[in-house]
Amino acid sequence: MSEPSKSPDWLKPTPRGLYCEAGDFYVDPVYPVERAVITHGHSDHARAGHGAVLATPETLAIMRQRFGENAGGSHQPLAYGEAISLGGVDVKLVPAGHILGSAQAVLDYRGSRIVVSGDYKRRADLTCPPFEPQPCDVFITEATFGLPVFRHPPDTEEIDKLLHSLKLFPERAHLVGTYALGKCQRVITLLRRQGYEEPIYLHGALQACCKTYQDFGVELGALLPVLGTTKDELRGKIVLAPPSAATEPWARRLPDALVAQASGWMRVRQRARQRGVELPLVISDHADWDELLATIDEVKPGEIWITHGAEEALLRQAGLMGYRARALSLVGFEEED
Ligand SMILES: [Zn+2]
Ligand SMILES: [Zn+2]
Repeated sequence: MSEPSKSPDWLKPTPRGLYCEAGDFYVDPVYPVERAVITHGHSDHARAGHGAVLATPETLAIMRQRFGENAGGSHQPLAYGEAISLGGVDVKLVPAGHILGSAQAVLDYRGSRIVVSGDYKRRADLTCPPFEPQPCDVFITEATFGLPVFRHPPDTEEIDKLLHSLKLFPERAHLVGTYALGKCQRVITLLRRQGYEEPIYLHGALQACCKTYQDFGVELGALLPVLGTTKDELRGKIVLAPPSAATEPWARRLPDALVAQASGWMRVRQRARQRGVELPLVISDHADWDELLATIDEVKPGEIWITHGAEEALLRQAGLMGYRARALSLVGFEEED
């Protein structure tokens, strides 16, 4: 890519989100808009009530499942690698490796390219194809775990901790807090990959997302609802539920629940303690500090725009690495991991 003398100005941060005037569309807008390009189905990126929505078929299915009739006025599926022109702006979606259907929006206009990477990670994930680095003039990166303290251990180590605990405490149900979209299915596929073949029990709030993954061919093995099971049946079993469920009356139906939680934030001991988590599992769907830096050096963009997390630390580090960088300070993004 040619090094532009000044920053491309055809994509701008606005209070509604990133706006492309030439193509008259927003990327991951936080308020309802006429035309939206959506990187993935997490609720801080995919919101209800837009007019036309362009996204991968998987993301559109997730939006329909979550929002029903409010999933958007019209849906335009764009498969990975296909391109479409919106008002002279070429739009392509390529894998981001974050969750099912997650994409980077690759935008080309008048000889310059901006990549909105959405959320991404670099580790293998059996539920989606891996992140594909794209050469570009501007790389817009998340910084959810943009601090040197965040170095995620290998997923296999964390899953082993859970499997080991099951052996130590066969009388206790192991309640693993997982975000409903992405983390839940990732934990299931990691367990299956490590040979765990028992049925996995699900809180009702996780069932619909699992069904969407299965509809797209992701193998999750035997899944059973917690509803209708007896206490004895759940002894020594793995139960997945939203992180908040552990402190709700719902959890009383579990036999002596051992509370675990799968999240990149579990690296912070204090957070685990505050949430009453006995077994913290550092399993993340976001790049850790090393992976953020490695990705920047792989993409080698003319310029980096940072959003969504610890912007300041990554901004400084990118500068030290010799990159021109700015913090976008977009509002409306949550700590979804
Ligand atoms: Zn996300
Ligand atoms: Zn996000």
